[in-house]
Amino acid sequence: MSQELRLMAVHAHPDDESSKGAATTAKYVAEGASVMVVSCTGGERGDILNEKLLGNASIERDLAQVRRDEMARAAEILGVQHTWLGFVDSGLPEGDPLPPLPEGCFALEPVHVTAEALVRVIREFRPHVITTYDENGGYPHPDHIMTHTVSMAAFHAAGDPTAFPHAGEPWQPQKVYYSGWSAKRIGALHEAMEAEGLESPYQDWVERMRQRPEREMFTAVPCAEFFSVRDDALRAHATQVDPDGFWFQIPLELQQRVHPTEDWELAVSLVEPSFPEDDLFAGLRDLDLEVVCRQAPERDTDGEVVAVHRSTPPPPVDADGDGVDDARQTDDVEDEITELEGHRDADGEHSSDEQAS
Ligand SMILES: [Zn+2]
Repeated sequence: MSQELRLMAVHAHPDDESSKGAATTAKYVAEGASVMVVSCTGGERGDILNEKLLGNASIERDLAQVRRDEMARAAEILGVQHTWLGFVDSGLPEGDPLPPLPEGCFALEPVHVTAEALVRVIREFRPHVITTYDENGGYPHPDHIMTHTVSMAAFHAAGDPTAFPHAGEPWQPQKVYYSGWSAKRIGALHEAMEAEGLESPYQDWVERMRQRPEREMFTAVPCAEFFSVRDDALRAHATQVDPDGFWFQIPLELQQRVHPTEDWELAVSLVEPSFPEDDLFAGLRDLDLEVVCRQAPERDTDGEVVAVHRSTPPPPVDADGDGVDDARQTDDVEDEITELEGHRDADGEHSSDEQAS
């Protein structure tokens, strides 16, 4: 059946769309699908993290506008549509104990407010598939955790005619995927770098991943020819991303050869999956999606959408016995920000605060 396929990628900050699943989105655009990136916040609390641009007065005067311009350029490179959900960046709380989150920020907004905003966008764009982050946010940044919470709440509400009745006609997307980095990918790239006598930037990351249960990432989308598009989009976020930094240390050719896919976790599906799969639209292409997504989904007694598949979150790991899930360990956070966010540089020695002082 030839019909327009629509994918919605929900992200926390401008630049996340270019560092998480970007090659997949570019691939689907190239195949004729419509892709909408939603940025929940404006990234207002980001610092200038590319040291080459520090001290640039015209950027410092209005960083928020610069980041909007960067986002527009990245969207153009990826070929995606883009919309702002309009909430305010929570920033990354640092210190021990952690300081309270700033008043009015995204992570402190009531979920019914943020979910209604996203439901409105879903009912307007009418995606068949949504991508977001896992329940840890991929890593424990408050905006990323909230992005997960809001995405799941909106997925469950969008097809319910009694939920947010003023936010558009009900529309039920059929699946939610979590973006992420599979342990397989990180391990394979790490080993390939070492085998070629190159310094792997993933040493610490590989070790941390080995200590954690693997997530159910059974969906591998081949998109190697779009890795360069992903990198171009990431470089468009010039204030956030050092063009010589962490993200660009593994040669493109090696990435394409060793791990030519982006990997996804099918979080919820209303259609029966068949693993392993290589397509976010698997099982949907032969359905009349205009009809299917307008049908109110079956719900259980708690009002939850009845899904034929839900992934199982891995059990918390507490190797050091301090009662805190290691995936949420605060001293891990800064390292993981570096690796998963690109909001910090690789060795953490050049945070913008230190440079400013
Ligand atoms: Zn982010």
